[in-house]
Amino acid sequence: VKVRVLKESAPGERRVAATPETVKKLLARGAAVEIESGAGLAAGFVDQAYVDAGGSLVDAGAGDDADVIVCVQAPQAARLQQLKTGATLVGMLNPDADDGRAQAMQSRQLAVFPLEKLPRTTRAQAMDVLSSQAGMAGYKAVLIAAQLAPRFFPMLTTAAGTIRPSRVLIVGAGVAGLQAIATSKRLGAQVEGFDVRPETREQIESLGGKFLDLGVSAAGEGGYARQLTEEERAEQQARLAEHLKSVDVIVCTAAVPGRPAPKIISRAMVEGMKPGSVIVDLAAETGGNCELTEPGQTIDHKGVVVSGPLNLASMGAVHASEMYARNVLNFVSLFINDGQLAFDWDDELLARTRWPQPPSSA
Ligand code: NAD
Repeated sequence: VKVRVLKESAPGERRVAATPETVKKLLARGAAVEIESGAGLAAGFVDQAYVDAGGSLVDAGAGDDADVIVCVQAPQAARLQQLKTGATLVGMLNPDADDGRAQAMQSRQLAVFPLEKLPRTTRAQAMDVLSSQAGMAGYKAVLIAAQLAPRFFPMLTTAAGTIRPSRVLIVGAGVAGLQAIATSKRLGAQVEGFDVRPETREQIESLGGKFLDLGVSAAGEGGYARQLTEEERAEQQARLAEHLKSVDVIVCTAAVPGRPAPKIISRAMVEGMKPGSVIVDLAAETGGNCELTEPGQTIDHKGVVVSGPLNLASMGAVHASEMYARNVLNFVSLFINDGQLAFDWDDELLARTRWPQPPSSA
C-alpha cells in the first residue's frame, strides 16, 4: 500500500499531515510513503528529514497512483480528479462545504474520511483532530488578545503604582476555550468562563478560572451543546450585557456542530464595553460569536477592537502538525496493517466517519 502526503494548497495553510516521525511509523506498518516535495517546510520539516525517515519525495501533483492520500485541508477539485480511482482520502475534508469537491470525490469513487466527523468516543481521542487543533487555536487566540490589548494581563506592583490584572472572559469552554482559560491564567489575568454545558463549571474552576453563571443550561447529544431556545438566549444575553461592562478582554470560542456559530455578543454589548477593550473571536470561521466580527479582519468599533482571525491552528504549525500527524497515523492504522489495506466496517470509527454516510436503516 502506498501512502501519499500532500503539499497543502489552501492559502495560508502551514500545517502538514505527516511528520518524519509518523512516516517512520507508517513504514513500520508496511506502507510505502511518498511526500510531495516541500510539504512540511512551513511546519518546520524539510524534505531531507522525510527522506531520512525512509520516505520518498515526489513532485506536488505529479502522477498520482497512491492508495491512501493524507492531507490537512481538502485539495481543489482539479487535484482530486488526478487521484487514483477508488483511492482513500483522509483529512479535514469538510466535503459538504463545496459541491465541486464533493462531486470530484464521488466521480473518482474515493473512500472519503473527513476526520472532523469522527465520533467523540474514548477510543477516538487519539485521532481527534478537532481537539488537537482547537488546543492550539485557543492558545493563539489569547496571545493575539494580549498583543492587541493596551493593558498588562498580570497584576503588577511597581514604584509607579499598582496595575490591576486584566479581566478576561472566555465564551465557550470546550477544548479551545479551556486552553484559552489556561493560557490567560498563565499570563496572570483574572479569568472567567462560561458555557451552556453545566459540566464545564468544574473544568473551568480546575484551571483557576471562575464560572460565570448566566442561568442557562443546554447540554445536547454526544457531549455537545444544543442550540438555545429564544427564551434561553434572551436570558443569557441580558445577564451577559450587564457583566461585560467590567470586562477588558473577551475570547469567543462557542460553537454548535454543523451550525453557524451562536451569536452571543451583540453590537449593543460591544458598545457597552469600556474603550480599550478587546474581543478575539475564534468562532470567526463559522460566522463569529460577536455580531461585529468580520472573519479575517481586525476592526475598531468605537474604541473596542474586534478581531476575527482565521485558521489559528496553522499559526502554530509545528506543534499543530505534530499532533495532527499523530491523529492521522492513528486513524489510518485502523485500515493499514502488514502493508495491506483492510476496512472493517463493523468498526464504528470507520463506519461513522466515512462520507457520504449510507442512508440509515432506521
Ligand atoms: P465545540 O467546538 O463544538 O464548542 C465549543 C464550546 O462552545 C462547547 O463547550 C459548547 O458547549 C459551547 N457552546 C455552544 N453554544 C454556546 C452558547 N450559546 N453559549 C456558551 N457556550 C456555548 O466543542 P468542543 O470543544 O469540540 O468539545 C465539546 C465537548 O466534547 C467537550 O465536552 C469536550 O470535552 C468533548 N470532547 C470529547 C472527546 C472524546 O471523548 N473523544 C473529544 C473531544 C471533545
